[in-house]
Amino acid sequence: MSRRRQIYEGKAKILYEGPEPGTIIQYFKDDATAFNAQKKGTINGKGVINNRISEYVFTRLNHIGVPTHFIRRLNMREQLVRQVEIVPIEVVVRNVAAGSICQRLGLTEGEPLPHTLIEYCLKDDALGDPKISEEEIACFNWAGSEEMADISSMAIRINDFLCGMFAAIDIRLIDFKLEFGRLWDGDYSRIILADEISPDGCRLWDMTTGEKLDKDRFRRDLGGEEEAYREVARRLGLLTEDSGPGEVLDMAHHRGRLRGAIKKK
Ligand code: UDP
Repeated sequence: MSRRRQIYEGKAKILYEGPEPGTIIQYFKDDATAFNAQKKGTINGKGVINNRISEYVFTRLNHIGVPTHFIRRLNMREQLVRQVEIVPIEVVVRNVAAGSICQRLGLTEGEPLPHTLIEYCLKDDALGDPKISEEEIACFNWAGSEEMADISSMAIRINDFLCGMFAAIDIRLIDFKLEFGRLWDGDYSRIILADEISPDGCRLWDMTTGEKLDKDRFRRDLGGEEEAYREVARRLGLLTEDSGPGEVLDMAHHRGRLRGAIKKK
């Protein structure tokens, strides 16, 4: 069997040519980076968990009518997706102050924002993904005005859905990042949700204890990142169906370790 053609290797995923034209395979790695890849490491099992979480979230978004690139999960670390032209903008949705907005505007982490904010950053590692205005997006034609209307309304809809989905499992959705793509059909394209939604690109805090269940555990050297990612998957009901009693026992062990890791800080 010949090896598949690799299209692109990113920080957390590898993209391969898919089995049919217009499809791509996303392979989820355990590699983790932070601060524009100045900090590098691995989170054991992250790729497997993120593949499952993203599959679950994209499937549910598809069910409520949000168009996404997701077709189906292929195996533990891979999913089949539609090939799109990625819009070179990272769309950040914020409900509560955390991360860069705290430094930029002098806000206290955990302060609820008066209303949900959408921010745009240019996808450009060399420039450190700078924040950009809608005026700049229009000026440099990174996305058209109709595309931006679709992107912002989808981002708000996704946020409303995800806030409810996570609240139901006792998790507060603080902020998250989305990427969109153009799905071409002849001369026309439409905007669909692409990339992934996982604890790599979201801030997720336990509603009761405030524990961080996301990549901030890695960014801030808090420890317990494997357990935190697994905890999110477990609460979503993703770790029980395929797992035997050993796995269930294992989760109890992991939960104990997560609590231990968090108490130490
Ligand atoms: N985010 C991301 N990739 C990036 C930048 C941000 O996934 O390159 C996510 C991040 O995980 C958080 C949200 O977007 O959930 C807002 O991030 P922020 O702008 O505060 O940047 P950070 O402090 O994470 O660098």
